[in-house]
Amino acid sequence: KKRQEQEQELQDLEERVSSFSEVVDHFEDLPLSQPTKSALKNAHFVKCTDIQKKAIYVALKGRDILGAAKTGSGKTLAFLIPVIENLYRRKWTPYDGLGALIISPTRELAMQTFETLVKIGRLHSFSAGLIIGGNDYKQERDRLSRMNILVCTPGRLLQHMDQAINFDTSSLQMLVLDEADRILDMGFRKTLDAIITSLPKKRQTMLFSATQTSVSDLARLSLHDPDYISVHEHA
Ligand code: ADP
Ligand code: MG
Repeated sequence: KKRQEQEQELQDLEERVSSFSEVVDHFEDLPLSQPTKSALKNAHFVKCTDIQKKAIYVALKGRDILGAAKTGSGKTLAFLIPVIENLYRRKWTPYDGLGALIISPTRELAMQTFETLVKIGRLHSFSAGLIIGGNDYKQERDRLSRMNILVCTPGRLLQHMDQAINFDTSSLQMLVLDEADRILDMGFRKTLDAIITSLPKKRQTMLFSATQTSVSDLARLSLHDPDYISVHEHA
């Protein structure tokens, strides 16, 4: 496609995102890029869950959010879609360095999130990596510098930040703290504080948790003027 056409498409998308202010039921009706829409469709994601309806269009605008919804409510796509889309609209390329960092409490959850990221990001050209303990440290370290989106566990991430000279976080646009209540339950408070403190201040942060109250201290440290989005259970 011609460069000019692409420019125009991106500009239209940007305008749609900034003027978007409604809650819609289907992914198809959100202001998303064609590669993301196609991948969602191929993966049979059609209707948005409640947290996705409320969180995605807000996060697309670059706002910080605290999203609270119980386990199984679809929080993963609520942050992965904005992560991919916000980098796409900024024309992020594999040469632009680290754009988004996603922190998960456990290796298993990080792997699941990574799988979903690969599934819905597969028509985009970003590079994505998984940084979890148990893998070969050197191999992980050597791949770090080339990644646009990283999914990681807190301990392993901090180890790389402390030790790897080629791990540059200065271009970071987005930080996601996923299952933040569980990260804290597992005793990673100090590790998280150390990570957050060393990241660029000008960034978008999305914090997701099953409850709002258990993460209020972390929210104060990491979020800037956030939208509080919570989904309550219906009887
Ligand atoms: P949470 O993080 O809130 O516990 P997940 O993001 O792990 O929830 O999603 C739970 C399950 O629901 C996953 O199997 C996921 O594939 C599925 N899911 C998420 N969003 C949708 C959707 N919009 N349509 C259908 N299934 C979905
Ligand atoms: Mg989850």
